[in-house]
Amino acid sequence: MINAGVITVSYIIATILFILALGGLSDQETARRGNWYGIIGMAIALAATVLGVVTQHYTILFAALLIGGSIGIVAARRVQMTQMPELVAILHSLVGAAAVAVGYANFMDPNKHLVGVELTIHDIETYLGILIGAVTLSGSVIAFGKLSGRIGGQPLTLPARHWLNLGLLIASFWFGYEFVVQSSAGGGMIPLLIMTVIALLFGIHMVMAIGGADMPVVVSMLNSYSGWAAAATGFMLNNDLLIVTGALVGSSGAILSYIMCRAMNRKFIAVIAGGFGTGGGTAAASGEQEGEIVAIEAEETAALLVDAKEVMIIPGYGMAVAQAQHIVYEITKILRAKGVNVRFAIHPVAGRMPGHMNVLLAEAKVPYDIVFEMDEINEDFPNVDVSMVIGANDIVNPSALDEPDGPIGGMPVIECWKGKTTIVLKRSMATGYAGVQNPLFFKENTRMLFGDAKDTLDAVFKLL
Ligand code: NDP
Repeated sequence: MINAGVITVSYIIATILFILALGGLSDQETARRGNWYGIIGMAIALAATVLGVVTQHYTILFAALLIGGSIGIVAARRVQMTQMPELVAILHSLVGAAAVAVGYANFMDPNKHLVGVELTIHDIETYLGILIGAVTLSGSVIAFGKLSGRIGGQPLTLPARHWLNLGLLIASFWFGYEFVVQSSAGGGMIPLLIMTVIALLFGIHMVMAIGGADMPVVVSMLNSYSGWAAAATGFMLNNDLLIVTGALVGSSGAILSYIMCRAMNRKFIAVIAGGFGTGGGTAAASGEQEGEIVAIEAEETAALLVDAKEVMIIPGYGMAVAQAQHIVYEITKILRAKGVNVRFAIHPVAGRMPGHMNVLLAEAKVPYDIVFEMDEINEDFPNVDVSMVIGANDIVNPSALDEPDGPIGGMPVIECWKGKTTIVLKRSMATGYAGVQNPLFFKENTRMLFGDAKDTLDAVFKLL
């Protein structure tokens, strides 16, 4: 057992480490250190809580830690890089589930002896905790389904869906009022249960209504919600560290949502209202493409690359699927040794989670100084001899600019077609995540190199 002073100091140290972790994670060069700060902070937080705050039921606690920890280790070892976004989504749902469980446990706690204003405040905390937790829980499960392809990317646009959402919101307020009134008289379970069902339905409806192209915002938004759910749990349990940690996750998730919205040129409210990135325009657009597809082989690709002075590599989700990042870097090294200037252009929503491409390139040890954000590099394309688009699709789709009313209209994209030649590596003519046909493939200066990106790049590497 450790005393209250030690717990407070441990919590302050953990809080500082969490803040340092967030600071570290904002830059690739310090990300590894940031991760360690987070791990150490969490270890201190867990140890202080187990040794200082918990006073009984140690067997249950350790059994739960053992089971949960084992599942976590097995899941983290098994998960493929391409399944990371789904894993993150399902982990958010666990935070939501925990908030709901803690809320009910708190409400039913026989040792709770609060009265008057204190009881009212406690009830509001409980109600909000369960509300946010339930929305996070069901929303994250649907996001998991959408990211893993178990649920289609098409938005579910029910008639009068905005009214439905408004109705659910008003009903939540009403049952909140009922809950607080009934709780002071010893009841309150019924309104709490009804609100939980409403919140679960709301979470499902909210994420179902969001179109494929808006999923990056949803992922970061649910991240934010999971933080607020944790903060609400902290209020219920009177745990300062949980409140601070939840607020850190909640606000950094909110900032990330803002950054993702800006990257996609979307308004947050419009995202929540749903319906962006429908597959509806796909069929019409695909039939009317002008221009022809010109396929090339590895030989010609290798020749184009060695003859170039400026090469730009644009990775997308397909690079993660093919696990082609290592071979990409091998090719980069050869080209650089031959005097070719090779750079990487990263779109903020490339892949399936924020920072996806940066993680893959860092794993392959690509130097950070040749990796650029879309905004830094887009103006350079007129000087680029060869752009290699590796398993990317939506992020290099010119229709985002040419068809403002199209399904992904208005989203800034990497404008590789302004360079001399673009080589697109993909397996087929299939559309990307947003389900939109890509006129880039039909442009005069585009060449298609069909096949799994790792296999084709292996062939190019051998030729180089
Ligand atoms: P896309 O999903 O648009 O395109 C990926 C392309 O990769 C596909 O067209 C596919 O074509 C190709 N591909 C798949 N596997 C392979 C392989 N083994 N070898 C070669 N090519 C392959 O990805 P982008 O990165 O361009 O865009 C990201 C999309 O995901 C955006 O719409 C974004 O909004 C969305 N999104 C992003 C999130 C984020 O946080 N970053 C989260 C959720 C969604 P083919 O099948 O023909 O090979």
